[in-house]
Amino acid sequence: YKINMDEFDLLEELGKGQFGTVKKVFHKPTNVTMAMKEIRLELEESKLNQILMELDILHQSRSEFIVEFYGAFFIESCVYYCMEYMDAGSLDKLYGDGVPEDVLAVITASMVKGLKFLKDKLNIIHRDVKPTNVLVNRAGEVKLCDFGVSGQLTQSLAKTNVGCQSYMAPERIFGDASTYTVQADVWSLGLAMVELAIGKYPYPVPDKNENVGLFAQLTAIVAGNPPSLPADKFSEECRDFVAQCLNKNPKDRPTYGQLLEHLFLNKYENVDMKSWAETAYASRKDIYKQS
Ligand code: ADP
Repeated sequence: YKINMDEFDLLEELGKGQFGTVKKVFHKPTNVTMAMKEIRLELEESKLNQILMELDILHQSRSEFIVEFYGAFFIESCVYYCMEYMDAGSLDKLYGDGVPEDVLAVITASMVKGLKFLKDKLNIIHRDVKPTNVLVNRAGEVKLCDFGVSGQLTQSLAKTNVGCQSYMAPERIFGDASTYTVQADVWSLGLAMVELAIGKYPYPVPDKNENVGLFAQLTAIVAGNPPSLPADKFSEECRDFVAQCLNKNPKDRPTYGQLLEHLFLNKYENVDMKSWAETAYASRKDIYKQS
């Protein structure tokens, strides 16, 4: 069974990414509201078909910490990826001046469980862990999206992918892009946590198209000390968790299993994520701010 464009009512735009837009859509045959991501790629049909085939493994198993995949199709040189609609949007627009530590613990636990699922069940490395790729709904659920399921898609996107905030682990930056492992995602997780906690990306951010500034940022990641959380605002457990993820030596970073047992993730109970999500959504940054 193949989905196609005729089955959808197109609703409002949810955001703009590097490769196209994400729209809220209504899938008429199933009565399900979805998010449809358009990915513009100049690829031949055989490669587009390969991408669809590779995405198919997402139908094998599900996790409550991964944005559900409904299906994909292509028209000319665009791939349309249909997924679960997350009605509070991405974390980058929700964290404001920083999220409270108990909320951070729940977000982090969800991210670690999602990453562990991808690795254990689907045998994939996310490759792009950052606040934009963590989605929230107003029920308070936190789920990962935009992971590297399709090797062909990852490869096609990589050629042009240079953002102005790098979440890449030091070993990925000037190293051999093909040799990094799952431990690179643990670094990105730590960096995303610092951003969520303090309310800003912790390395210097260059102005648009300023290559010298970008180089300075990458140098700071590779040669400088990793960022850390201020002792007056965050608990010892929280700061230790972040420090372990942001170890510059990938071999010394904890595994997902070890992270799940860390005190920080087991410190808080009954965190009201629904209230947090609703409040954060109501005061979120402009939805078109990004891109
Ligand atoms: P990027 O290329 O920067 O990763 P995307 O193209 O993935 O961005 O998404 C752009 C924006 O669209 C996101 O920042 C998010 O706010 C919104 N968005 C993406 N996927 C969904 C979804 N499943 N539900 C709701 N909003 C989404």
